[in-house]
Amino acid sequence: MSTILFHEIVFGPIHSRRLGTSLGMNLLPYDGKLCSFDCIYCECGYNDDFRTKTKLPDRDNVKAALEDKLIRLQQEEASIDVITFAGNGEPTMHPEFAGIIDDTIELRDKYFPNAKISVLSNAMHISKESVFEALKKVDNNILKLDSAILDTVRLIDRPNAPSYTIEKQVELFKQFDGEFIMQTMFVRGSHNGRIVDNTTEEEISAWLEAVKATSPKEVMIYTIDRETPEKNLDKVPLEDLKRIGERVEQLGIKVSISG
Ligand code: SF4
Repeated sequence: MSTILFHEIVFGPIHSRRLGTSLGMNLLPYDGKLCSFDCIYCECGYNDDFRTKTKLPDRDNVKAALEDKLIRLQQEEASIDVITFAGNGEPTMHPEFAGIIDDTIELRDKYFPNAKISVLSNAMHISKESVFEALKKVDNNILKLDSAILDTVRLIDRPNAPSYTIEKQVELFKQFDGEFIMQTMFVRGSHNGRIVDNTTEEEISAWLEAVKATSPKEVMIYTIDRETPEKNLDKVPLEDLKRIGERVEQLGIKVSISG
């Protein structure tokens, strides 16, 4: 299986379809994946196939690695659009996530004051006060909601918490008062003999209700781009993504589409 695992704390800069020139931050182990979801489209592979044997990097090491990289980029007169927390799993699972965000803001302001800070999150941990407060400080707080139908989330994203509900997530999203970006992966295919399609009318109607209820400042719509652990998945055609995007725009919400 071809997967992408990051073997450093700070990686890149790389070109991101959604964010531009992006310096990546991996707060997860180097040798595996750690996530509270186990998405069937995850570019890092399935959780069970990439169990980690190493510890998470601590806050001081993360800060030192980032500062070192920013100094080098400055010396090379490179430019970066964004510092992005993504990596081998869910960044908000790091116990020092809030402190690391504070350090990152401090270093960004010192070396690349025009760069944005983005966090790509599955939104499972936003009920934790320190995670919520940290996400409020970043420029792009990008939270996943792939479907507003629980059965579909359990099929596609496979959250590890039995207590995960759409209603709870919607209420938590609302607490950001619109200061978040919703990210939604649209995908079709099959998994374990079941049809996967979060683009049906039933799906889109329910999802638009969740978008309306939570009023994000932007919605990022995208589809698979690389190899996925579930092989029976297909890209959703750009035309279909655009049609979904038009319905979001009709709600008065900005949309970005990566097909
Ligand atoms: S939330 Fe992100 S890192 Fe976690 S399994 Fe899904 S795609 Fe992978």
